[in-house]
Amino acid sequence: MSIYEFQEMMRRLYIKRDSDRGIEGTYDWLVEEVEELGEALKGEDKEATEKEFADVIAWLASLANIVEIDLEKAAVSKYHNLCPKCQQTPCNCTF
Ligand SMILES: [Zn+2]
Repeated sequence: MSIYEFQEMMRRLYIKRDSDRGIEGTYDWLVEEVEELGEALKGEDKEATEKEFADVIAWLASLANIVEIDLEKAAVSKYHNLCPKCQQTPCNCTF
């Protein structure tokens, strides 16, 4: 399944609920899920961490659906084999 297909699946499953909740409410859920991922990363439960990653991408896809952003197009057009900053693979930016 591609990122596009995943986002479309999320649309089929949740677009009504996501639209009713709105941008702000859905964004808040995404933030909450990112925080839960942060907590999971502190532990050693790989399965729990995997589920938090799933929740983050699911809520990110829901939010993208509401604001009509094609996640795959956005990601691949910015990160297309090269670092968008230094234009190299692997990234050679100095931090
Ligand atoms: Zn770079």
